[in-house]
This record gives sequence, C-alpha cells and structure tokens, in this order.
Amino acid sequence: MASVMIACPETRREIYTGIETDEASFAKLPDVLSRTQCSVCGQEHVWTRQDAWLSTSRRKQVA
Ligand SMILES: [Zn+2]
Repeated sequence: MASVMIACPETRREIYTGIETDEASFAKLPDVLSRTQCSVCGQEHVWTRQDAWLSTSRRKQVA
C-alpha cells in the first residue's frame, strides 16, 4: 500500500490525504473532487486524482 499525497497550495508542502491505496487502485480512482484537512496550514484543500501522487518511499504512520 502507498500513501496518497497532495501539495498544499499555501505552503507547497507535501501533505498526506489520509488515503492508502495501491498503484492499480489509484489509477482507477474516479477523477472527482476530494477534500483533505491540511495538517500544515490547517485549511481544507480540494483536490482531484490529477493533483495527487502516491508516496511509497516515505510511508508515514499517522496514528
Ligand atoms: Zn495547506
């Protein structure tokens, strides 16, 4: 499994969306709007699959 990441538009930091998936499932995700509460700037960001990427190298354990 990999973490779905997006870039915070305010700080350009990489943030975790809270979604875990694999590459095959990620490729099949519908291109719909998703919302993520940003852990960096505290705002809610709206994103689509095109804005996101999978992070397999540095997996964070978010408890
Ligand atoms: Zn943010």
